[in-house]
Amino acid sequence: MTTRREFLSTIPAAGAAFAITSNFLLEGSSAQAEQIAPHPGHFHPKGKPPSRFTLDVLRGSKASLPFADTRDLDEQKRGLIASMEELQIPADAGHIAWDMKRFQFLEEKDEFDSIHPSLLRQSRLNNNYGLYEVIPGIYQVRGFDLSDLTFVRGKTGWIVFDPLVSAEPVRAAWKLFQKHVGGGLPVSAVIYSHTHGDHWGGVRGLIDEADVLSGKIPVIAPVDFMQFTISENVYAGNAMNRRLFYQYGLLLPASPHGYVGQGLGQAVSAGAVGLIAPNRFVSAALEEIEVDGVRMIFQNTPNTEAPREMNTYIPDMKALWMAENVIASLHNIYTLRGAPVRDPLNWSKYIGEALYRFGLEAEVMFASHHWPRWGNARIQEILRQQRDLYANMNNQVLHYANQGVTINQIHNVYQVPQGLQNAWHCRGYHGSPQHNARGVIQRYLGFWDCNPTSLIPLSPADSAPLYVEMMGGADKILQRGRELHDEGKYLLATEILNKLVQAQPDNADAKDLLADVFEQLGYQQENPGLRNSFLAAAYELRTGIPQGETASTTSPDVIRAMSTELFLNFLGIRMDSRKADGLRFTINLVTPDNGEKFIIEMDNATLTNIAGFQAEKADLTLTINRSDLVQTMMGAKTLEAQIADGTATVQGDIGILKVLAATMVDFDPRFEIMPGTKLRTATMTNADPYQAMPEKIIAE
Ligand SMILES: [Zn+2]
Repeated sequence: MTTRREFLSTIPAAGAAFAITSNFLLEGSSAQAEQIAPHPGHFHPKGKPPSRFTLDVLRGSKASLPFADTRDLDEQKRGLIASMEELQIPADAGHIAWDMKRFQFLEEKDEFDSIHPSLLRQSRLNNNYGLYEVIPGIYQVRGFDLSDLTFVRGKTGWIVFDPLVSAEPVRAAWKLFQKHVGGGLPVSAVIYSHTHGDHWGGVRGLIDEADVLSGKIPVIAPVDFMQFTISENVYAGNAMNRRLFYQYGLLLPASPHGYVGQGLGQAVSAGAVGLIAPNRFVSAALEEIEVDGVRMIFQNTPNTEAPREMNTYIPDMKALWMAENVIASLHNIYTLRGAPVRDPLNWSKYIGEALYRFGLEAEVMFASHHWPRWGNARIQEILRQQRDLYANMNNQVLHYANQGVTINQIHNVYQVPQGLQNAWHCRGYHGSPQHNARGVIQRYLGFWDCNPTSLIPLSPADSAPLYVEMMGGADKILQRGRELHDEGKYLLATEILNKLVQAQPDNADAKDLLADVFEQLGYQQENPGLRNSFLAAAYELRTGIPQGETASTTSPDVIRAMSTELFLNFLGIRMDSRKADGLRFTINLVTPDNGEKFIIEMDNATLTNIAGFQAEKADLTLTINRSDLVQTMMGAKTLEAQIADGTATVQGDIGILKVLAATMVDFDPRFEIMPGTKLRTATMTNADPYQAMPEKIIAE
């Protein structure tokens, strides 16, 4: 399975985009594209400047935004101790793990006509890059990853909150911190605020696992942390990975016409991901723990921003850590890369509880993204607004739903209350009001709008030819599409051009025009996920999905953290049911070192497992220590090899393993999204049949 970095390494950088595109053209794309002169400064030869309609939209937005409120600007730079000089942090593997050079262009001009002014402002704020004092005793390194690294002074050393995505940025941050503030004291504790990968993946850059196993360094996390850390990304992992290319714009060069940051932070680092299991879990709703001599009150907030998450209050410093529950943005209720829809009412209530438990006296509030807030009045203002932001989204969307507004309309109906729209931190730099509003309906009512037409709809490619026919054919659609484009009616243009592309995936003119329309829509978005999605689709329509050779480097820590049951469940998903028709067998799996046993059953073209049971007459009994099974899950040693050298023992019909293996399929993370963008090469993955293939850790 490829990692995103490896996938990325196969993707042309800004300068090389021309090469792949001209290559693509030579291979037989539209002749018309060659007539278009590239827009100066655009990374893509087919790229277009913003239209006058787009300029109007951006100008109009600028006039309506609360630019008079400059408190974020002051708070973002307050307490700067030292900027980070090196703009790039190398990865141990030789590539660049973190690159702030890419975002320097944001400082070159006061405004860009292809970036929404609100998004530009946020991306500039996220260009902070260095070490900051929050208050004496609390420090943050910001801008080294999607998330912030926080240090709190303990009695014997430094208590660290949320060690980023990968080890290399963490090490660089620790070095900068030690140079100015750390005083050579060691890390005395680590706290993972929640389960997302940008809050623990760099932990090995900071501490040794042996010190955690021995109990020397407490690693504290919310209850069930391990279970939810891995499970959120496994079952639909390949699909999520692919969708990240849209939400996170992974194909797009950093550029005024491309990627301009992620709202939460500039990007996700690409170093070595590791995971050290916590040795102290917070399970009560509220729990006070003395961590290296510092009194901390942990507030569990399950099913908010993450399945497991906790806020922390440090009463003796009047300092409130809001994890990722309160940041300088509206967060995702629905996540474009794909995730179960979150519960905004529950989320709001936990913010309300934090307000009344801690927020009435806190003097500083800080979090795992963005910058702190100082002074009790400011803290209360933010907490109340964030509480109401999520509650309003829940309540008002359901209010409309109860009056018949559907999932296909709500984003055009629901609006964030004006007062909250004027609060910068309530604007949609991660979640957008549009996709969150749809998410709330999805959560409560599901995908169906209750119109039977959409109950069992034809697949787009099956319905599109009739539309094309009824609209009078491709030429008419292209002509009308161009008119709509030229009139700035971009959403209307997508309606008909998408039908044409669905019906005729090889129609290069249609794809190019749809790309032009998407591009304008992308420029107009305040939300980076929406911007990236439009621009990514435009890129793929123009260039096709990139291709290249890759190798496997899934983090062993992540595989080890997968439960055997999760692994077996995933095998049930990897298996192609169509290849299992008529198969029927039962396997007893025993993993003596951790005392687990399973029945794995193949019947009805379905692979199921049940923990804690053994079949009386299994066709096969497989006994292998879980610590050895991990080698197979990682793809390091096949099950065959484990059996051959006696690491695993089998009783019964060993041929079953071959039969089962033949039903397993590799997932390719480059599947087609927009019609006619497909690769011409074969699948690039080549996993062992019993490899776990968990997808890379998804940060948020
Ligand atoms: Zn995060």
